[in-house]
Amino acid sequence: MRKPFDGEFRVASPYGSRVDPITGEPGVWHGGVDLVSADRNVRAVIGGTVLQSRMVDKGSGDRTWEWGNYVSVGGDDGFVIYYCHLDARAVEKGQRVSPGQILGIEGNTGRSTGIHLHFEVRDWGGQQRNPCDYLGIPNQAGYIFKPERESWEDECHDWSRDAVEWCVSRGILKGKGDDNFALGDPITREEMCVMLFRAREIM
Ligand SMILES: [Zn+2]
Repeated sequence: MRKPFDGEFRVASPYGSRVDPITGEPGVWHGGVDLVSADRNVRAVIGGTVLQSRMVDKGSGDRTWEWGNYVSVGGDDGFVIYYCHLDARAVEKGQRVSPGQILGIEGNTGRSTGIHLHFEVRDWGGQQRNPCDYLGIPNQAGYIFKPERESWEDECHDWSRDAVEWCVSRGILKGKGDDNFALGDPITREEMCVMLFRAREIM
């Protein structure tokens, strides 16, 4: 699944139980993840068919008025994706969309307290899934996804396990705080030099 934005975006509110942002009530279920982007163009994360592209009237009794302008897409891989609170929609019901196609503009319609995308993933039975699992991002408020980092992280995932084991087993990584480092932690140039120096000593 690709990301719903081309550029950088931030997790404003994670999937799961939370304090309701309007009423302040604790333990209210949040069935999607709220994302805030830099460029506001909302893009299809998977190809499929547009199931709904609409805004439901608040007085209708249909709870989906809360989503404001929303687009739902029945994906080719068995998921239904919801893109909500849009300021504008760019696709019509029944239309085929391809991954990366612009579906609308991130907005503040419906039950919303600011410009963001409410992004939801369900299976065909309507069961909600943790959307962050499919986007490959942590379900954590404040996390910022930066697209230019993606290929580097992918590369790291392929190499990091072996590389870290190798460095640890030879004492190259040993030092202050080394027992609780996390993959992806930055290091200073000085630390890099020490590691290279140690590596030279044992090779
Ligand atoms: Zn939301």
